[in-house]
Amino acid sequence: MSTFLGLIKEIPGISVDRFDGANLMSSILFLSHCHFDHMHGLSDIFFEHIAEYKKYLYCSPITKALLEARFKFKSSCVKEIDINTPTVIEYGIENNEKILICVTSVSAGHCPGSVMFLFERNDISVLYTGDFRINSTDLSKLKGLHYSIDSKLIPRTFSKIYLDTTFLSTDFCAFPSRQESIFKIYEVSRNWLSKDPRNVVILECSATYGSEFIFVELSKMLNMKIHVRNDVFESYCRIAQLSCYVTNDPHSTLIHACKKKISSSGLHCRGDVSNENIITVVPSVMKWRKKDTSIIGEWDKDKKRTFNVCYSTHSSLDELKAFVQYFKTLEIYPCVVKTDQEKEVYYLLNTIKNKVDGPSLVSQGYKLELPARKVSSKVKFKSKHFSSDDDSL
Ligand SMILES: [Zn+2]
Ligand SMILES: [Zn+2]
Repeated sequence: MSTFLGLIKEIPGISVDRFDGANLMSSILFLSHCHFDHMHGLSDIFFEHIAEYKKYLYCSPITKALLEARFKFKSSCVKEIDINTPTVIEYGIENNEKILICVTSVSAGHCPGSVMFLFERNDISVLYTGDFRINSTDLSKLKGLHYSIDSKLIPRTFSKIYLDTTFLSTDFCAFPSRQESIFKIYEVSRNWLSKDPRNVVILECSATYGSEFIFVELSKMLNMKIHVRNDVFESYCRIAQLSCYVTNDPHSTLIHACKKKISSSGLHCRGDVSNENIITVVPSVMKWRKKDTSIIGEWDKDKKRTFNVCYSTHSSLDELKAFVQYFKTLEIYPCVVKTDQEKEVYYLLNTIKNKVDGPSLVSQGYKLELPARKVSSKVKFKSKHFSSDDDSL
C-alpha cells in the first residue's frame, strides 16, 4: 500500500500517483497504474480542475481506458505516453520559469497498463517504479532504462529511485515467477474440472483489480473465459488485451472470479452448483510470509477444498536487490513503509546499497522523507505558466 505523498522532490512541479493537497499545485501529473492507493484525489472534480487550469495527467493508454470507465473527463486532459518512447514535456512553474523534462515510461509488470516513469532533467535522472514486479532475468529487456551504444545496451544509473518496497523484507525473500504460480493454478483447476462435469473453480482474488494476468493466462490454457462481476467486466471490455478472456455470463464458464472476498461460501452467481462441486483457489502472498515459497501451492489445512497459491504482483526482496544492483542509484526513496517496519526498510536499503557502492558510502544512510516536503506559500504553479498543449505528446 503506497505511502508516497506524490511530489518528486528533485524536479519542481511534478506529482506522481497522488492528486490531493499540495499535489493540486503541481503543473504536470502522472499516474503509474489504476490501483486505488495510487489514485488519492482523483475524481470528476479533480479532472474539472485540471481542465480549467490546462494541466495534464500522463499515463499509459490502458490506464487511460480504465480511467474512462471510472471518471468523467475531457479526453484531452489525459495524455497517453507510449512505452519506451522518450517524451519531451515543457511546462511552467513560478516566476514564469520554464522547465523542460524528458519522460520515458517503462513496463512495470504489475497489472495491465502499469508503468514506471523515468524523469530526466539536465543531469538529474529519477526513476519512479510505481508498483512493479520484474523478474531478475528480464532486467535487460527494459529497453527504456538502457543506453544504446554501438547496438549494445548499457544499464542506466539514476540520481534517485522511488522504489516499490512492498516486499522489502526478509519475510519475502523469493517468490515463484508468475508463470509458475499460474501453471499451478491451471493444474489444480484442470484436475478438478476433469473429475466431474458439475465441478467449478472459484478464484478468490484479494482485490477487485490486480489478478488480470491470471485471468488471461488461465483462460488461454483452459480455453474457457473467466466470470467476473459486471462492473469489472465493463472496465475490462475497454481493454482489447483483456476483453476476450472474461465474461459476465455465469452459465458460460466453470471458472469464477466473481466473488467478493468477504462473502460467505458458495457460488452466488450459480444457484445450481452445490458446495461439494466447488474448489476455491486463493492466489496470495501473505500466507507465505516466512515460508518456503518453492512449494508454490498447497491445500489449506483448515478450510475445506481450498488451495492456496503463492502469487505476487510486487517484487520479492531478491528481485528488488537484483534491480537496484543492476541499475545502480545514488539514492533510494522507499514508497511503501509501514510505521512498524521503518527500521527494517532502512537496514535493508543500506544493505542493498552497500553491495553496490562498497562499505565507504553506507554511512550516508537514507532519510525516510515522510511526510513529503511542504510547499511554500510563495510557490504557485499557475495554469497561465503552463505551456505544453501539444496533444501529440
Ligand atoms: Zn498496484
Ligand atoms: Zn461467477
